[in-house]
Amino acid sequence: MTTIDRDRLAKLLDAEQRGYVQRHPASEAAFRRAEHQFGRVPMTWMNKRAGNFPLFLAHARGARVRDIDGHEYTDFCLGDTGAMAGHAAPAVTEAIERHLRDGGGLAAMMPTTDAEWVAAELTARFGVSQWSFSLTATDANRWAIRLARAVTGRPKILFHSYCYHGTVDESLIVTTPGGGSAPREGNVGAPTDVRLTSRVAEFNDVEGLARELAHGDVAAVIMEPALTNIGIVLPEPGYLEAASRLAREHGALLINDETHTFSAGPGGATRAWGLDPDIVTLGKAIGGGVPIGAYGLSADVATRLQDRADLDLVDMGGVGGTLAGNPLSIAAARATLEHVLTPANFESMHRRSARIAASVRAAIEQHRLPWTVSELGARSEVRFRDPAPRTGTESHLAQDDQLDDYLHLFMANRGILLTPFHNMTLVCPETTDEQVAEYSELFDAAAANLVA
Ligand code: PMP
Repeated sequence: MTTIDRDRLAKLLDAEQRGYVQRHPASEAAFRRAEHQFGRVPMTWMNKRAGNFPLFLAHARGARVRDIDGHEYTDFCLGDTGAMAGHAAPAVTEAIERHLRDGGGLAAMMPTTDAEWVAAELTARFGVSQWSFSLTATDANRWAIRLARAVTGRPKILFHSYCYHGTVDESLIVTTPGGGSAPREGNVGAPTDVRLTSRVAEFNDVEGLARELAHGDVAAVIMEPALTNIGIVLPEPGYLEAASRLAREHGALLINDETHTFSAGPGGATRAWGLDPDIVTLGKAIGGGVPIGAYGLSADVATRLQDRADLDLVDMGGVGGTLAGNPLSIAAARATLEHVLTPANFESMHRRSARIAASVRAAIEQHRLPWTVSELGARSEVRFRDPAPRTGTESHLAQDDQLDDYLHLFMANRGILLTPFHNMTLVCPETTDEQVAEYSELFDAAAANLVA
């Protein structure tokens, strides 16, 4: 196996950083001018960047974006899944234009008939049958968690270490080496010690999950069927079945967060892998880029909630939002599900993503790098570890910021965008074979440079 020469990597990174600055004077100037935004960006995460400043967006369509310096990119980040349907997919654009032209409304707090179409479609895809909408996946998770607490009368939520489910207070918990738990590093202004609200186990650790559930205080296990926010960590055979069985044996609900694992197919990993959660949460891609989130309850959970006169589900009981379920988000979701993220398009996305994974794997072998590739339908991801990580903590420990930055800048300087957070490539219906080949060649070149 090749060990990475750190001096060489530092020099390569430095050269890429200089190239990045030279190529993007307009983005740099816009960033320097942005004095009235906290951190100079409209949202603090936009400061997660490999270069000295972020690229400013000028144009986005399909699988391509252009920055304000005029450089075109093939976009494999796709808004970290928000644009898995492609930027401004024609059917979504047309639906939005028609909606506005026809006076379909933006914020009325009145239901539209499209919502039943979307809810029925989500039911057919994900199995659970009672849907409600939010504007973000974070809120879908927050509200699902409240409902799970209400229905079970239990205080705690169980997470997997190094999971991500949005900015949900309860979720920022990790395991510690001694078998305990701790707040996740960097947790901003935590309302309380997260150990009061939450429990944590490692992904793929059946015993750990059983041990935490045995306390008898867990309202719900919330999980991505594969972790996707610490690289991709795939479930080992039998883990998801064990998680489902254990949750039920211990009286906890199972919530599948399909926000990213939706890449596994039209009904996410839930459908692709035959899972049977009590609640499904979603967001991002289903609106084709327009903000939306959703949670679906099983009929049983929905009935148990609706029978409870003590729960205020209609006013200020802690579940809901003024613009949630708004007509535009719902119209965009209908167009996205009906015309864009269809079974046929998932098939071609999966085919192209598999091609990326195969070529990256070949490059890793050729250059004898100690890396692995994990695949999840339309997304795949490189992790700097071989064998591939089995748990969130193992994957966290394989983090290598210098390598991340090198790969991101190497790609950005040559016309490819990756998600800023790790090394994921996501494919949308408009991603072409040529774009896939372009990425594969560049990955091989970046790897060859490293080991030369
Ligand atoms: N769930 C998962 C699995 C996610 O990956 C994310 C965001 N990366 C969220 C929820 C939250 O999505 P949002 O930030 O759009 O609320």
